[in-house]
Amino acid sequence: MKFCSRCGSEHMVWRVPEGDNRPRHVCDSCSEIFYQNPNIVAGCVPVWGEQILLCKRAIEPRYGLWTLPAGFMENGETTAEAAARETWEEASTRVEVGELFAVFNLPQINQVYMMFLAVMPALEFGPGTESLDCRLYDEPDIPWDQLAFPTITHTLRYFFDDRRRGSYSLHFADIVREGGETILLARRDAAGPDAEP
Ligand SMILES: [Zn+2]
Repeated sequence: MKFCSRCGSEHMVWRVPEGDNRPRHVCDSCSEIFYQNPNIVAGCVPVWGEQILLCKRAIEPRYGLWTLPAGFMENGETTAEAAARETWEEASTRVEVGELFAVFNLPQINQVYMMFLAVMPALEFGPGTESLDCRLYDEPDIPWDQLAFPTITHTLRYFFDDRRRGSYSLHFADIVREGGETILLARRDAAGPDAEP
């Protein structure tokens, strides 16, 4: 931060405020402290019969790769509302958002993903401004090597595994990068705690 958004001062410093335990952006003129906290990304797995709706990204990062509808939550909405809104914006379809299905902590990029199950009540969809294309996929046709983010890959794996098992449960995992490798550390799911590459 170069300027204080409260008083306009240029005297911004990076230091531990009194009574705090970590450095923050602090204005030396008006003493305002600017806290930075993780962002929540809300999304869903839109289902039409046996098929899943994916969107091809028209924006960076990961332009041209496939994703489930998901995006940053806005102030004044719930996580389920955010998931429905993102689906409308990216895929022009009004989904019925159901149970929370997967939560991912991404501590290295300060994000938390919250992915819901969702049903498409009608066969109406199409690319919104953030998508190049939207398509319904059967499991064998999922473009696994062209998915945009590890969170999307893991959500889809959980989804198809649960569907085979016949019941859906909440999955909770941390996704971290170590030595250039993306690692999933599963904390809780139907199969119990484990770790997989
Ligand atoms: Zn200030």
